[in-house]
Amino acid sequence: MAGILVFSDRTNLALEILTAAGVIGGTAKVLVINNDEQAQALSDAGADVYKLSNDDISLADVGQVAEVLKEAAEKLNADIILLSSNRRGKELAGRLAQKIGAGCLTDVSAINVNGDKIECQRNALGGATVATQYINGDKKVIAVSPRSFAPFAGSGGSINEIDITIPASTVKVLEVKPKAADTVDIAAAEKLVIVGQGLNSKDDIPMIEELAAKIGAEVACSKPVATDKKWFSEEHVVGLSGKICKPELAIILGVSGQVQFTVGIRDAKVIAAVNTDENATINTMADYVLTADLHEVVKEMNEILG
Ligand SMILES: Cc1cc2nc3c(=O)[nH]c(=O)nc-3n(C[C@H](O)[C@H](O)[C@H](O)COP(=O)(O)OP(=O)(O)OC[C@H]3O[C@@H](n4cnc5c(N)ncnc54)[C@H](O)[C@@H]3O)c2cc1C
Repeated sequence: MAGILVFSDRTNLALEILTAAGVIGGTAKVLVINNDEQAQALSDAGADVYKLSNDDISLADVGQVAEVLKEAAEKLNADIILLSSNRRGKELAGRLAQKIGAGCLTDVSAINVNGDKIECQRNALGGATVATQYINGDKKVIAVSPRSFAPFAGSGGSINEIDITIPASTVKVLEVKPKAADTVDIAAAEKLVIVGQGLNSKDDIPMIEELAAKIGAEVACSKPVATDKKWFSEEHVVGLSGKICKPELAIILGVSGQVQFTVGIRDAKVIAAVNTDENATINTMADYVLTADLHEVVKEMNEILG
């Protein structure tokens, strides 16, 4: 079995990708760039970590990181490179595949090894179906969707140093700022309260946030609520052009349930939908359906939860 190289600058995602590597088989090595804490956490979980410490690399310069990964893959004899399918991971996947002449699949939600084929499942046709695809050829770059695999938990890991010739950056990073306080990682949330265009006005958002806070959930929304009404940033959008989410619980309020939305939430463990239309499409995928005005329901839930 070919060697596997794993990389994500997010420790939780790197752990999930390590589990995906275990499905493929063989020995996975993990590259960690400029993050001693991550190197320790992954090694504690049982991973063989190859740590690169060099102040000349900026993770924001995805082209340069792709060059680093290319050389690391050569040095560590890895033909299969597994990345996270978050925004930066997807960009990295394409750039790296181009540099090493590999086939590339992103948004992979499940992996199955069938003979010498690594079959990957990903959404196709706008999320209306799930396609099983594999990469022909030895070199493969596969980006795995967050929360598709359980975090890896093993023992007996190691931390090794790796020396890489750092390529000159073609990008000058002037400043790296933390994300604004508004941003949220809905793809990683355990619980979501999701609002759609059934919400009457922006003034109703505080009661949605109150409900979310009471049950320890993040607030998310359908696309038009962010892109047309601009009530939330696009970080909150669930669906094909937003985030693929797999929470334990999704309370979906005033969303019709078109496929571009449902593709982002259909893997939630429990779905409760509130809609005034008893024939709303969202009801067909919900575990609990309430045909009611969301404003009254949220108000009552907030009162009950105290
Ligand atoms: C290429 C492409 C990509 C897209 N990507 C995405 C995506 O990533 N995410 C996404 O969400 N959409 C996406 N869309 C848009 C998608 O097709 C739908 O238009 C969108 O999901 C509809 O949002 P909605 O359900 O909030 O609004 P609507 O379809 O208008 O539904 C509103 C719902 O609220 C109900 N309602 C009204 N009043 C109340 C009330 N008082 N109480 C309870 N219920 C009420 C109505 O019965 C209705 O079912 C995409 C579209 C395209 C073409």
